[in-house]
Amino acid sequence: MPSFVSHLECSRCGRRYGHLRVHNLCGCGGPLLVEYDLDAVRRVAGPDDLRGRVASMWRYRELLPLEDPAHTVSLGEGFTPLIPLRLLGRRAGLDDLWLKDDGLSPTGTFKARGAAAGMTATVERGIREVALPTAGNAGAAWSAYGAAAGVTVHVAMPRDAPATARDQCRRYGAEVTLVDGLIGDAGRVIAEGVQAHGWFDAGTLREPYRIEGKKTLGLEIAEQLDWHLPDAIVYPAGGGVGIIGIWRGLRQLAALGWVSADMPRLIVVQAEGCAPIVKAFREGAEESEPWPDARTIAQGLRVPKALGDFLVLRAVRETGGTCVAVSDDEIRAAVADLAAGAGVLACPEGAATLAAARRLREAGELRPADRVVLINTGTGLASPELL
Ligand SMILES: *Cc1c(COP(=O)(O)O)cnc(C)c1O
Repeated sequence: MPSFVSHLECSRCGRRYGHLRVHNLCGCGGPLLVEYDLDAVRRVAGPDDLRGRVASMWRYRELLPLEDPAHTVSLGEGFTPLIPLRLLGRRAGLDDLWLKDDGLSPTGTFKARGAAAGMTATVERGIREVALPTAGNAGAAWSAYGAAAGVTVHVAMPRDAPATARDQCRRYGAEVTLVDGLIGDAGRVIAEGVQAHGWFDAGTLREPYRIEGKKTLGLEIAEQLDWHLPDAIVYPAGGGVGIIGIWRGLRQLAALGWVSADMPRLIVVQAEGCAPIVKAFREGAEESEPWPDARTIAQGLRVPKALGDFLVLRAVRETGGTCVAVSDDEIRAAVADLAAGAGVLACPEGAATLAAARRLREAGELRPADRVVLINTGTGLASPELL
């Protein structure tokens, strides 16, 4: 059974591309997004059909870019627990607080979702060699899925990226280049390799499919809340792929009639030491400006300028959400509280969502009865310095 994908569409100019060919960005420089024939999906599938399916993100196969199930590259990613945070919620004045815990993902972060979808698409298009810049975790995930698929992976990352991510990449057999600078500088190294060797550029939003994997976070939250969407979802944004994916996934569910059209408020968290999207939101701008001298212990959020910033801002504004920056001290405190108050060892990026929810509750932006879902994007075990 082929996929229900109808085409790829440029998020800037609307130009369409065939999805079975290999594509990166649109000619205009805009990221390409995957579009589906939702009328056809509606005719063949409903929520009841999910019963008994595999407990991974591939249970939503009608909404994923998979042409032949035999090509699926999977390590069991997705369908992670949605945990009620009763004690922490009560303490924060939020009576209906939940945590979607992607710390239980293969390779330790939700990057596994993107890598599973991206690597599957890579295999289906006959690509044998891919390259990507990374702050660390995407590199680890793509390296693992490359190992599973027999695809060669080249990654470039900042020299000060977490050792756990760097060493994972090497163990999975990827070729690792360490770069003085940040993810943007790593991107320039990858662009040279792509030019010189013809590798496929699998960088964030430069390949259209990883966002489809991250989208399943939203599909799962909907299913796990019995198809009643929460009032707010709080997400730690670096490149912002996860939140763009969640937004698109929930709109697809609404178009299918599986949920009501009332979207949750999408709330973006960044670190005070690197908050370009928060700044753009406050200034009413449609895009962010590169953030100078980006610094934070939450390295997944250390993205000075995201290619998809305009889509993140659109998702936040269209859903009546907001953007908030939290300090590294608040993040450290939230890591400690999630551990001692909920039994969850979260990554700093994930813990930032708790810090943000507290601030928004204090500011009256979240009400006590709001159903709020925090997204923990990775395991705290990869940050031994925070233990
Ligand atoms: C990559 C990453 C993020 C940010 O994800 P984006 O999709 O780039 O916004 C957050 N947390 C962790 C642990 C990450 O690895």
